[in-house]
Amino acid sequence: MAKKVVIIGAGIAGLSAGCFARMNDYEAEIYESHNLPGGLCTAWKRKQYTIDGCIHWLTGSSPDYSFYKVWQELGAVQGRRMLNHEAFTRLTNKDGRTFTVYCDADKLEKQMLYLSPEDAESIKLLCRLIRRFTKFQIPVGKPFERYTIFDIIPLIIKMLPFSKDMNFCNSITIGEFASRFKDPFLRESLPMLLWEKDYPLLSLVVTFALLHMKDGGFPEGGSLEFARAIEKRFINLGGKIFYKQKVEKILIENGCAVGIRLSDGCEVRGDYVISAADLKTTPYEMLDGKFIDPMHEEMFRTVKLAPSSVQVSFGVNLDLSNQLDCLSDSWELSHPIQIGNRKFNWIFIKNYCFDKTLAPPGKSVVESTFVVDDFQYWENLVKDKVAYSGEKERIAASVAEEIERKYPGFKNAIEVTDIVTPMTYVRYTGNWKGTYMTWVISPDIVKKYRMVKKTVPGLDNFWLSGMWVQPPGGVPTGAMTSRDIIQLMCKKDKKRFRTETPQN
Ligand SMILES: Cc1cc2nc3c(=O)[nH]c(=O)nc-3n(C[C@H](O)[C@H](O)[C@H](O)COP(=O)(O)OP(=O)(O)OC[C@H]3O[C@@H](n4cnc5c(N)ncnc54)[C@H](O)[C@@H]3O)c2cc1C
Repeated sequence: MAKKVVIIGAGIAGLSAGCFARMNDYEAEIYESHNLPGGLCTAWKRKQYTIDGCIHWLTGSSPDYSFYKVWQELGAVQGRRMLNHEAFTRLTNKDGRTFTVYCDADKLEKQMLYLSPEDAESIKLLCRLIRRFTKFQIPVGKPFERYTIFDIIPLIIKMLPFSKDMNFCNSITIGEFASRFKDPFLRESLPMLLWEKDYPLLSLVVTFALLHMKDGGFPEGGSLEFARAIEKRFINLGGKIFYKQKVEKILIENGCAVGIRLSDGCEVRGDYVISAADLKTTPYEMLDGKFIDPMHEEMFRTVKLAPSSVQVSFGVNLDLSNQLDCLSDSWELSHPIQIGNRKFNWIFIKNYCFDKTLAPPGKSVVESTFVVDDFQYWENLVKDKVAYSGEKERIAASVAEEIERKYPGFKNAIEVTDIVTPMTYVRYTGNWKGTYMTWVISPDIVKKYRMVKKTVPGLDNFWLSGMWVQPPGGVPTGAMTSRDIIQLMCKKDKKRFRTETPQN
């Protein structure tokens, strides 16, 4: 009889775990607290508008590069157009200087040299590194946990040409690299690109290498449709998925995970349990704090958590498709906008007209994101429903006012307003402090936490998958960690790991 895998959470990690489990003849059931698949990888409808809540760039969107194969196995990319951009963003400061951050490294270099010839050395270094990492392919195959000397040696040989650049990019933060620039505008701009100055420079370089290769596109139809395709694949493979089923406890017998208990008291038994839910909740609540890995504990205590965000979206009865040729338009504000405890001097506007499926013809979805690290403020505010709603309305009005200055007529054309705060992420996905990229693995700790444990001590037949065990997170980490776990499961059961790629 086939062994049964019980999976907690239907984010990309949970759905992927289910698909790979089915491909390897395990019975698989997913239990999800929300009424939708996708977790953080989501979108929602407001009147005729689709507000996207996730993907800016999808690693593995191009059939020419390694990770696409995994998305194919999951049925996520077949028949789906991937939309790429000419530029990542366009920043304009108060003095009217504009930095178009092109996706193409050659154009980017030309643009930066035009803006600041005196920074030629740093600009050339940055763009050389971007071009260099276009040659680097994400290894897709065995999980690192299963590497033997016969895997490590070829990997070292493959990595050797990159090692000097890799070490450099992992030894300096984006903020530190930016501080080398003499031009104040470029110095200020670079740390804003990934909204976090403490990420290693490698994060920026790898992201721009993906964009250069057109391997970081946007899946047409948006993030929820992307997740739904994986849900469909899981169901077609014979998996079962149960929504509005919150898991409260993981059942344990003789040091083995043997199932789950739902919030309505029902118990579901299985041979294996995979938690693809938030890492803080899983060991500390679902496992009652009895199986804490010292590495996880240390990370929660010492490592900086990636921030959350406030996302303000508008559905407007205006065709903005000719207004922007890039992913986002950003400008320095004459008066800062107050969001929670922070004042923002810059606004980032994303115009979704590049995906015609998200708004009716002649209309547009426009979104503005503010990255925030004051979770406590939002946690306190949400307790007072009136104050919380009032604050959301005030923020939306300030953002609309600011966009109106740049695009006259915008305010009057607004048909839909939608605001997400850190508490929205907590409510819908349970992620700790509303983060969606887990930890900031900065250069000083990158070696220490390169491989986060996917198990907990003293508990067999149990795995953790998802963004938390592969910081700094992202949609691909959900698929990758789950693929790895099912390989480890197959190894335990002395089975050969198999994958299949559906044609459509
Ligand atoms: C605004 C935004 C922009 C982003 N941009 C990008 C991007 O451009 N590219 C990129 O790669 N990534 C991006 N990400 C990050 C990416 O979405 C996440 O890192 C990834 O989707 C995490 O997937 P996951 O399956 O590991 O976790 P989650 O998506 O958090 O899934 C966990 C699931 O478990 C469920 N769950 C939790 N607790 C329970 C319980 N007790 N019982 C049952 N179910 C439970 C949750 O409801 C959820 O569905 C972005 C995220 C956001 C929010």
